[in-house]
Formats: sequence, structure tokens, C-alpha cells
Amino acid sequence: MRVRVLGCSGGCAPGRAPSCYMLDDGIVVDAGAMATALTVEEQQQVTDVLLTHAHWDHVRDLPLATINRGAGAKTLRLHGLAETIRAVRTHLMNGEVWFQAFDLPSADTPFVSAKTVKPGDVFRAGRYTVHCVEVPHTVPAVSYLFDDGTSSLLMNADTGGGIAAGRPSIFANLPKSSPLRAVFLEASFPNRMREFAVMTGHLTPAMLGEEVACLPRDVDVIVTHLKPGFETEMAREIADLGRPGVRPCRDGDVFEW
Ligand SMILES: [Zn+2]
Ligand SMILES: [Zn+2]
Repeated sequence: MRVRVLGCSGGCAPGRAPSCYMLDDGIVVDAGAMATALTVEEQQQVTDVLLTHAHWDHVRDLPLATINRGAGAKTLRLHGLAETIRAVRTHLMNGEVWFQAFDLPSADTPFVSAKTVKPGDVFRAGRYTVHCVEVPHTVPAVSYLFDDGTSSLLMNADTGGGIAAGRPSIFANLPKSSPLRAVFLEASFPNRMREFAVMTGHLTPAMLGEEVACLPRDVDVIVTHLKPGFETEMAREIADLGRPGVRPCRDGDVFEW
């Protein structure tokens, strides 16, 4: 399995693009940097975009990537919770701030088709079986577990985790799949801002450490969504966890498992 990091920041600044990851076979998870980081030709080859939730940093480039597909392009399949799809339709591609890509140029062959998912759903995207897993955040959010039949990979949404809310780790009850090789998981704020992280539905490195404690030690944990300005401080805190295989990523990184 191959993941290309198009954007992994929890915000935006020069060299730091918002959430967007491309798996092989033209599958994109979140669209924060889809038009910024991919060539027009690459954007046209994307078949499926899986949205974890509706927040701006995860959908930002969707309108521009949609029009970059050009007239006559194959319909882009957009997967997401009903609440997420509704937010994109209502606030983004609504005929006011952008054209209604779900309905144009025709109802039969729109630029974008909506594939609504709900937690527990299993569907196909490219060569993957994808499990939709609910995670706690300030708005409805899901993670996606990709299984290629040999191994699996979990792309997490923004989350405050389960443990801080007095519940089990978000990894305690994952769906059955091929052996889990890697988890992409957020940490947005440094440890000293734990209270703010909890309030905004995010993790600190220490909270991330508690969540991943129940994962097998050989599962790589790629830390994403660091808010701009905190990267150096948080890189130290992530290293201090002392767990092998836990590391922050950068835009442009390519991982293979
Ligand atoms: Zn976010
Ligand atoms: Zn969010």
C-alpha cells in the first residue's frame, strides 16, 4: 500500500497544506490540498474522494479540483457521511460560492456524485475494501480502514479520541481486517494545551500516546494535523513518547507498506 501525503497540516501556511492523502489507484482521503498538490492530469485521474468530515481544512480544494477535471470528465465519486455531503452541497458547491457540481452538467453525468456512508459500512474503492469507522470530533466524523486483502491501513479523521471522554480507545473495537500495518492519526496541539485540544475535539501527543497504547507495537503511527507554529515543540513531545514507529509526517512524504 502506498500513501502520498499531499497535505498534513492542521491549518495552512507556506509549505504546510491542509489534510489530503492519496492512495494508489486514484483514491484521495480528504480534499484540503487536492488542487494545490496534484497536477491537473493527476487531479483528472482521481476516481474517489473519501471525506472524513466537513471541516474547511478537509474540503478546501474540492471545488477547484472539481472544475479542473474539465468538461466531459468522468464523474468523481465523493464518499462521506450524510452530514458531510449535506454541508458540501449546502455551503460549498451550492450555486452561490461555487457551481452545483452535484447536478451539473446533467443529473445523469454530474461532475460529482455523492456516495453516502455510515459507520459500519463496508464498500469498495479501487482495489480496496473500505470500512467506515465512527470517531468522536466536534462534528460527525469517520475514519476509513483500507484493506487490500493482505494488509490494512487506517486513515483517521480529526478526533479527540475516546480515552479523554472516559471511553475506550478509538482503536479498541476496530473492524476485522487483514493485519493492520499503519495508522494515520492526528495530534493538533502541544501537551500544555490539553484543555483546548479536548474542547476542540483534538489530541495532544500525550493523548495520542494513550490512544495508540492498545495497538500492536509493530503498527506504524504517522502523526498528522499539527497546527502551524507548534511543529517543533510537538515533534519533541512525539519523540518523548518513546514508542517505536510513531513519527510526524510532512507534505510530500510517500509511505509504502
Ligand atoms: Zn482538521
Ligand atoms: Zn475537524
